[in-house]
Amino acid sequence: MSTGCIIAVGGFQHETNTFAPHKATFDAFDRADSWPALTRGEALFSVMDGLNIPISGFIDTAKLNGHRLYPLLWCSAEPSSFVTSDAYERIVNEFCDSLRAADHLDAVYLDLHGAMVVENYEDGEGEMLRRVREIVGDQIPVVVSLDLHANITDAMIEHASAITIFRTYPHLDMATTGARAYALLEKILGGDNMIGRMRKIPFLFPLTSQCTDFEPCRSIYDSLEAIVAETPGLASIDFACGFPPADIAECGASVVAYGTDRTVVESALDRLYQQVLGAEPEFKNELLDPDEAVLEAMQLNSKKPVVLADAQDNPGAGGTSDTTGLLEALVNNGARGAVLAILYDPEVAEQAHRAGVGATLDARLGGKSGFEGADPFQGQFRVEALGDGRFVYTGAMKLNSRAELGQMALLRVLSDDADVRVIVGSVRVQCLDLAIIRHLGIEPTEQKILAVKSTVHFRADFDPIAGRTLVVVAPGAHPCRLVDLAYRNLRAGVRLEPMGPEH
Ligand SMILES: [Zn+2]
Repeated sequence: MSTGCIIAVGGFQHETNTFAPHKATFDAFDRADSWPALTRGEALFSVMDGLNIPISGFIDTAKLNGHRLYPLLWCSAEPSSFVTSDAYERIVNEFCDSLRAADHLDAVYLDLHGAMVVENYEDGEGEMLRRVREIVGDQIPVVVSLDLHANITDAMIEHASAITIFRTYPHLDMATTGARAYALLEKILGGDNMIGRMRKIPFLFPLTSQCTDFEPCRSIYDSLEAIVAETPGLASIDFACGFPPADIAECGASVVAYGTDRTVVESALDRLYQQVLGAEPEFKNELLDPDEAVLEAMQLNSKKPVVLADAQDNPGAGGTSDTTGLLEALVNNGARGAVLAILYDPEVAEQAHRAGVGATLDARLGGKSGFEGADPFQGQFRVEALGDGRFVYTGAMKLNSRAELGQMALLRVLSDDADVRVIVGSVRVQCLDLAIIRHLGIEPTEQKILAVKSTVHFRADFDPIAGRTLVVVAPGAHPCRLVDLAYRNLRAGVRLEPMGPEH
């Protein structure tokens, strides 16, 4: 084992939905939201301390093993359409400048997502790794951790020395994955000559089929450690589900493996590849239309809340978080004891703060993002509570992370038949933690229906309190029926759904 090395550490995170309406500008990376703001230099160590973020896990483990860390920068933006060239060049140039400024480096660790599409690069991470490699040369290991939603590319495999990937969705193991990236780096620093191989899976499957609480993903991810344990010479093997709403050639799931023996790596990769192919008929995608879902939630008459996942308007997958299809269905069907979160509308949040608690408002709520199919919900509301958007997450996925969500408001829809409240926010973030609901004074366990703009991440915190969870397809920029997407750049021959038609 080697100690006392100098390792450069940094991160640049974006998940790009090329079908979404708005691009990620530099400001989106610069500000705090449900993730820390852009952080540079020594501050990286205090800001990331104790968080479930890959770089946090890497830093802790590398320090524990006696290495010195050279901080680059770390930033992330909420998923959206393309990263602007301006944002990308400013951030990557700063990365590269700080790398060049290092006196001496033994290794580089990068906390990347793996599904970044830039206005002028289909593969943001591949291009960034190419530039990093150009600076550090072939002899310095560059180890990378990626999100489970990475669309892994040949360029990433070519320029990284080793890659490891989250193994849970909801992503409970982000810091653990950073620690695993350190373990791979340690093998390389110890003299292992790592050979990497990647193979793309020939079918896409939507985020609604990717949850690792359910089959077939549960078994696939469970098998990874066993494959390594049973295979001498294999250092790691991983499976990325991919991020399907990205119209790029190399979109979709992949298997990736590293080890010191080419034949061993290739045969282990083939074993996992065949396992995933064999599971193709098992991928389920049970989706309900908004009226169906609301009526079923009401008929269930569950003692515990029924959770409705507004899966297609999940801002964590590039949704605008302001479509009103599910809200309309709740009100029109006379739902009672229902709360929907988070509807992104900074104008109405400000209007509510100006009016104050107890006031009545006429408002056009949501539907302002320009997403086709999103119309505002026109109605009268009573302001029931206000929040400043500052709180600490309590769920396992984002435990101890600080939220900086700006002005928030709890609005009751004034209606004779329905008992529906909406949590309105002024920062576009996913409703994946019960602390968001409690921030507005609502006890989630006491509600009949909880409607959340999230696809899967909410499950970690909400499923344990839910009587049932139903997945809804209301209008949104994150389509969960992939055959509906108009791909133009995807490589030919990929099946657009498990057992589905070829592109
Ligand atoms: Zn992800």
